Amino acid sequence: MTKKTAVVTGSNSGIGLGSAHALAAAGYNVAINSFTDGAEDHALAKEIAEKHEVDVVYIKADMSNGGECRALIEKAADIFGSVDVLVNNAGIQFVAPVDEFPVEKWDAIIAINLTSAFHTTAAALPHMKKSGRGRIINIASAHGLRASPFKSAYVSAKHGILGLTKTVALEVAEKHITCNAICPGYVLTPLVEAQIPDQMKAHNMDRDTVVREVMLDKQATKEFATVDQIGATVVFLASDAAAQITGTSISVDGGWTAA
Ligand code: NAD
Repeated sequence: MTKKTAVVTGSNSGIGLGSAHALAAAGYNVAINSFTDGAEDHALAKEIAEKHEVDVVYIKADMSNGGECRALIEKAADIFGSVDVLVNNAGIQFVAPVDEFPVEKWDAIIAINLTSAFHTTAAALPHMKKSGRGRIINIASAHGLRASPFKSAYVSAKHGILGLTKTVALEVAEKHITCNAICPGYVLTPLVEAQIPDQMKAHNMDRDTVVREVMLDKQATKEFATVDQIGATVVFLASDAAAQITGTSISVDGGWTAA
């Protein structure tokens, strides 16, 4: 049996990389992606491939560019013959009051965190319809369900992607294609880890206190989610067991949105 193929956007780091590993461990061939094209990007693909004994390619595509988003899907389909699972994960953040929010940052966040998923989904659906099965998994956020001050673009994009998730799910519901979102709370990625020393300094607190009282203030468990836990949720949503789960979101947020 030929292996199924997964494309994960923004996957040379953090949650995307964790999801790529989880899908590869579950037997998928995987296309990983970012906007860079370094030797380390291709080495990462080789590393995942060797670890899990599947085929992994690195495809450069800038998710702020609609044409490149669509080209990513076509290249993956050309290489592997199908696109069975699409994980829309690429994302960036910027924090500022709305009346001071730089327009170019707003545009970049909407483009990378929301519009890219429109383009990749539009490009992937014909391939999924042809094979009669598909899974689209959008990495949203607790900020798709709740707001925080100073994150206007991020919160807007993440609320938007939940709308896109529901709409796509309804459009392809009878084609054995599902579309769902995962809403992580704080996940301990290198990006988040790097913020801890600054927060310790700014609040004059030790690591445990700053993590518990500042960063995980809203996360009821007072623990970070892990990239492995998000990856496992991706693999579950991609599985046959999740065939009747569509147009919804799964929170992996340590109880943040229960309050
Ligand atoms: P990260 O910075 O480690 O990963 C982001 C990935 O996106 C990287 O691989 C980066 O190269 C890629 N990327 C950025 N701009 C891109 C572009 N223009 N084109 C292609 N790729 C691009 O961050 P992360 O924490 O792993 O975040 C991944 C996703 O998870 C994002 O959508 C983020 O909003 C979401 N998320 C993260 C957290 C968290 O606490 N870490 C919580 C909720 C949601």
